[in-house]
Amino acid sequence: MTEKERQEMLDKLLAKRADEGLRPTDRYGIPAQEMPSQDGVERRSNVNEVALGYTESEARLEALRCLQCKNVPCISGCPVRIKIKDFIESIADGNFQEALEIIKENSLLPAVCGRVCPQEVQCQEKCTVGLKFKDVGKAVSVGRLERFAADWAKEDSVPKVAPDTGKKVAIIGSGPGGIVAAADVRRAGHDVTIFEAFHKPGGVMVYGIPEFRLPKAIVQEEIDVLTKMGVKIECNFVVGRTRTIEQLMKEDGFDAVYVGVGAGLPRFMSIEGESLVGVYSANEYLTRANLMKAYNFGKGADTPIAVSKRVAVVGGGNVAMDSARTAVRLGAEKVYLIYRRSEVEMPARVEEVHHAKEEGVEFLILQSPIRVIGDDNSKVKAVECLKFELGEPDDSGRRRPVPIEGSEFTIDLDTLIIAIGNGANPLIQQTTPGLEFNKWGNIVVDDNCKTSMEGVYAGGDIVLGAATVILAMGQGRIAAAGINKYLSS
Ligand SMILES: Cc1cc2nc3c(=O)[nH]c(=O)nc-3n(C[C@H](O)[C@H](O)[C@H](O)COP(=O)(O)OP(=O)(O)OC[C@H]3O[C@@H](n4cnc5c(N)ncnc54)[C@H](O)[C@@H]3O)c2cc1C
Repeated sequence: MTEKERQEMLDKLLAKRADEGLRPTDRYGIPAQEMPSQDGVERRSNVNEVALGYTESEARLEALRCLQCKNVPCISGCPVRIKIKDFIESIADGNFQEALEIIKENSLLPAVCGRVCPQEVQCQEKCTVGLKFKDVGKAVSVGRLERFAADWAKEDSVPKVAPDTGKKVAIIGSGPGGIVAAADVRRAGHDVTIFEAFHKPGGVMVYGIPEFRLPKAIVQEEIDVLTKMGVKIECNFVVGRTRTIEQLMKEDGFDAVYVGVGAGLPRFMSIEGESLVGVYSANEYLTRANLMKAYNFGKGADTPIAVSKRVAVVGGGNVAMDSARTAVRLGAEKVYLIYRRSEVEMPARVEEVHHAKEEGVEFLILQSPIRVIGDDNSKVKAVECLKFELGEPDDSGRRRPVPIEGSEFTIDLDTLIIAIGNGANPLIQQTTPGLEFNKWGNIVVDDNCKTSMEGVYAGGDIVLGAATVILAMGQGRIAAAGINKYLSS
């Protein structure tokens, strides 16, 4: 559809809507609006954002696809209960500022969530339009519309801050949970300091998710809002090393603490050869590339990264897709993605899988490494894999991969990236007696995100295990409400 055709269709539908209203059949007849994206070949050699966002006419036409259901099933799929129907109606009306304000009642980071939330298994999965077509890909594109509204607003407004209360709150970790908690606690007038281990705030949104999916300028804008509100940020500050939680509370005068340190400890496969040179955890690989800008090594960045020709990434989640697509951009000639189940079981977002394929990543499905092979210099030169078939469902409900005996084969490569999941870093556990953890090393909290320690709240991946941006934000908000109540009592 050309821009002219789209505009004509939009004008006609808006006129009919004003005259007699739109019937469901009118709305079903509007084609789902694809979001323009950078060319698949061109983007292999740059780190610019892949998805380019809707134009106004695309957004308004997409918004008119929404049936405005009375029972709003989409909202039940949204972890922070954004008033989806209302903000979409505002976009259809052309009231983009109003749309953004409606979103911001429930979500503080719409430009981030519009880009990285797994909407296809949340709000969009429940959308009546998608259900009617029996295709979640035809659901109203809630995420793209959220992104549109967020990008449309030129300047981020700075929330009002209540008069000083004289209470001090420490936020440990500057991921999405920490950012939301800091904003909500500061709004209540408390003195807030974020302590961040890395030299830059933003958590996974900065060190993990690549620029081509989430431009860092967007995250920086959110951080700037915090500093404009008066939130202090201390980077290169590792709680548990620089100061413990106990010291912050007993010696440094903090009245309450939010722990949002994420799940930054990479898991490995425990197979022979994993410590060879050229084997990376996805965390290290992505941190070097994103946070340390290793793709610009020698031309502004100090951190090197392997210059690879043949790369294999092990895993099937978003982290694996991000690693494989980063390797493509760093100049690898061949990038494989090795996953032990089938594509149906892949936890990565459908859009990321699609983009990875477009960029030339070759998927080796139902296969898994069993040994990494090195050369005389202890540098990885190949990986030996085994083939699998699908058996009965396991505890996760997904069909279990069963090894096929005698199916071993090797792939020559110079870099292997392990992206099979992250766990909790044990530092806080080791240095905070009195704080209760479960057997996986995650902090135990109640419904208000309160921990076993007086005045200490926690949320995000350190509580949930590796989860999502929106869930971390949701917990940051609950914890902040708990802290504000605790400090006012
Ligand atoms: C590569 C990758 C891709 C992802 N893609 C998506 C996606 O597309 N969509 C989605 O919804 N989710 C995605 N996720 C998951 C999502 O990013 C996380 O669930 C979310 O960021 C968790 O937020 P958080 O606030 O708990 O902490 P995090 O974002 O993990 O931030 C924690 C912060 O705490 C800091 N920290 C750790 N220990 C200490 C300490 N002792 N002292 C001080 N600071 C400390 C860390 O440096 C970090 O900055 C992805 C994750 C990764 C790794």
